[in-house]
Amino acid sequence: MYYNECPYCGAHLDPGEPCDCRDEKELRLKKRQAAEIRITEMLEEDERWSQEKLRICC
Ligand SMILES: [Zn+2]
Repeated sequence: MYYNECPYCGAHLDPGEPCDCRDEKELRLKKRQAAEIRITEMLEEDERWSQEKLRICC
């Protein structure tokens, strides 16, 4: 199968497919969004855990 290789990150791309690693701004935004999602998940997990503890002790 024919593919292009991104010269920046080495990712295999479909012909004509741009690699988003070249857009530094977008990459930073994605990283920030991913970090925010992780924090949200951690908080939700925390909340579930305290609800769980409440159920156990009461
Ligand atoms: Zn790339």
